[in-house]
Amino acid sequence: MVIHTRVSPLIAPYGGTLVDLMVPAEMRDDVKARASQLPSIQLSARSVCDLELLATGAFSPLDRFMGHVDQQCVLDEMRLQSGQLFPLPVTLPIEASPALHLDRDIALRDTKNDLLAVMTLEEIYPWDLAEVAHKAFGTLDLRHPLVAEMHHWGKLNISGHLRVLQLPKHYDFQELRLTPAQTRACLEGFGYSNVVAFQTRNPLHRVHEELTKRATLEVDGVLLLHPVVGMTKPGDVDHYTRVRAYKALATGYYDPHRILLALLPLAMRMAGPREALWHALIRRNHGANHFIVGRDHAGPGNDSTDKPFYGPYDAQNLLQRYSAELGVNMVPFRELLYLPDEERYEEVSRIPSGTRTASISGTQVREQYLNPGQKLPSWFTRPEVAEILAETYPPRHRQGVCIWLTGLSGAGKSTTAEVLTVLLLEHGRQVTLLDGDVVRTHLSKGLGFSKEDRDTNIRRIGFVAAEIVQHGGVTICAAVSPYRATRNDVRNLVGTDHFVEVFVDTPLAVCEKRDTKGMYAKARRGEIKDFTGINDPYEAPENPEITLDTVTQTPEDNARLILQHLLQRGFVRAQTTVGSNSGHANPVSHAS
Ligand code: ADP
Ligand code: ADP
Repeated sequence: MVIHTRVSPLIAPYGGTLVDLMVPAEMRDDVKARASQLPSIQLSARSVCDLELLATGAFSPLDRFMGHVDQQCVLDEMRLQSGQLFPLPVTLPIEASPALHLDRDIALRDTKNDLLAVMTLEEIYPWDLAEVAHKAFGTLDLRHPLVAEMHHWGKLNISGHLRVLQLPKHYDFQELRLTPAQTRACLEGFGYSNVVAFQTRNPLHRVHEELTKRATLEVDGVLLLHPVVGMTKPGDVDHYTRVRAYKALATGYYDPHRILLALLPLAMRMAGPREALWHALIRRNHGANHFIVGRDHAGPGNDSTDKPFYGPYDAQNLLQRYSAELGVNMVPFRELLYLPDEERYEEVSRIPSGTRTASISGTQVREQYLNPGQKLPSWFTRPEVAEILAETYPPRHRQGVCIWLTGLSGAGKSTTAEVLTVLLLEHGRQVTLLDGDVVRTHLSKGLGFSKEDRDTNIRRIGFVAAEIVQHGGVTICAAVSPYRATRNDVRNLVGTDHFVEVFVDTPLAVCEKRDTKGMYAKARRGEIKDFTGINDPYEAPENPEITLDTVTQTPEDNARLILQHLLQRGFVRAQTTVGSNSGHANPVSHAS
C-alpha cells in the first residue's frame, strides 16, 4: 500500500515545522487540576499576546519566552543560539518573588486571572534595560513607546518549557482569528503556492488596495491581508473600527479567489527595521513567501528631538538583506498616484511629466478631511470605508485631548488650569480638571511622595485622563509629575497626538518666594523630606509642546497661549465669521 502524504504548496514554516505548545485535549483536565495548586503569575496584556503567538507557532522556531543565551544572541546578532534568524527579544519579565523556584512549575494567568499555561521554570535571570533598548530599538529615548514601557517591566526574565491549556479568549471577529495552521489550511484551498502578506495597523485606502492587488497579480498568488489586532502604536485607530473597514473592503472590492483576511494578535514593538524582519518571519509561518514593506515600516514616530527613530527605508533594506535566508521576498511599497483624467492609479515612475495627478497624504487625511469632518473622496477611500472611519473618527473639535501641566509646587499649574478651564467652557468644550492636590484627597488618598507613590499617583491620573480622552473629552491635569519617564508613559497611554505637555517653567527661587502653602519653608527646615526641588529631583520636560513663563506673563496670558495652541490644532473650534471660506487644499496637481 502506498501512503500519500499531502504536500503543501506553501512555503514551510521557518525551521521546518510549526511549533505547537497546546496540551492535547485529553490531558487538559489533568494539567489544569494540578495547576490549581501552583504559584501563579499574572501576565501583562503584551505577554498574553506573545504567549498566544508562541503557542500557535507564529514565532516558530521559538518555542518559549527567551532564556538568557537566546536573548543575548538575538540582541547581538538577531539570531537564536541555534543560528536561526530572530530579530527581536521575546521575553517574560517579572518582579522577583519568593514563590518562584527553579525546576518547579508555575501557572501563567491572563489579566483577568484565567489560567492560560503552565511553565517549568528553567531560568530566572536579570536583564539590562539600557542594553535591550539600545541594541533592539537603537535608542534610549523615552519617546519610543516600547522603551518607555520597559521602564515598568519586571527586572527579571523567566524562561522554560511551556504547556498551554487555552489560548486567550477573544469574543470579537472570531471567524477572522486564524492560527498559523488554520491560515495555512485556508490558503492551501486557494491553490496557489505564492502568498503575499500585507501587514497593517491603519485603515486602508484605495492606494493600499491598488498596491496589494498589483503585488498579488505580480506574484500570481493570493493576498494574505493580515492586520495586527494585538497591541499597535498607542493612539492608533482601534482595531474594531479597522477590522470593520477591512471586512468591507475585502468583501466588496477584491477578487474573492485571491484574498484571505485574517487577524494577527501580535503585540507590536514599533522597532522599525528589526520589526519588519520579525513581521516577515511571522508571515512565513502563516504560509506567506512574499511580504510588502512600505516606507518607515513599524515606525514609532519621532524622538524627543523631533527626528524619526529610523530611516524611511531602513526596514526595506534590512529585510532585503536577509530575504534569501528567511525565504521571504521583500515587496517594496512603490508610490502610486491617482490620475483623475484616466480614473486610475499609476506608479510614480511610470507617469509622464505634465500628467494631472492627485494624492492626499496621511496628514492631510486627518487634518483636512477627518478632523474638520469632511468626507473623503471616493477615488481616495472606498465609501463604505470612509463611512466607518467617519463614525468612529469625529472631527478634531469633538476629539479628546489632555493638557498636562507639569512643574514645581507653586509654579502656577492650578492657577493657570483654572483660567484655561473657563476659556474652554466658553469655547464649547466640556472639561475635567484633575488637579494633583485634589486627586490626592480621593483617587490617590493615602499615597505619599516616595518615587513609587508619586509614580502611582501620576499613573492613576494618566489612566483617568486616557479614558476621558478616548471618549472625546478634554482633561487638564495639573500635577508636579517630576519624573520624565512617567510623564512619557502617560503621553503614550493617552496617545501622543492627543497629549499637550505644558511645562510651567517657574524658577525654584520664585516658587519658594511665593510659597503659598508654606511648604518650601517647612522643607528647608527639614520638616518635609522628599520635597520636589529642595530634596527631591524635578526632571524638566525635554521637548514639551508648550513652555510657560509665569514671571513675566499672567495666568490669563498663559491660559490664552494654551488655548491658541488648541485652536491651531483644531481641538477647539475657531469662532466662525460669516462669509468665510474654510479653503480646503486642492488635492490635484501636475506631475513634473
Ligand atoms: P501649582 O499648582 O503649580 O502648585 P498654584 O497654581 O497652586 O501652583 O500656585 C501658584 C501661586 O503663584 C498662586 O498663588 C498664584 O497666585 C501665584 N502666581 C503668581 N504669578 C503667577 C502666574 N503668572 N501664573 C500662575 N500663578 C502665579
Ligand atoms: P506628584 O506629581 O509628585 O505626585 P502632586 O501634584 O500630586 O505631585 O502633589 C504635589 C502637591 O503636594 C504639591 O503642590 C504640594 O502642595 C504637596 N506636597 C506635599 N509634600 C510634597 C513633597 N514632598 N513634594 C512635592 N509636593 C508635595
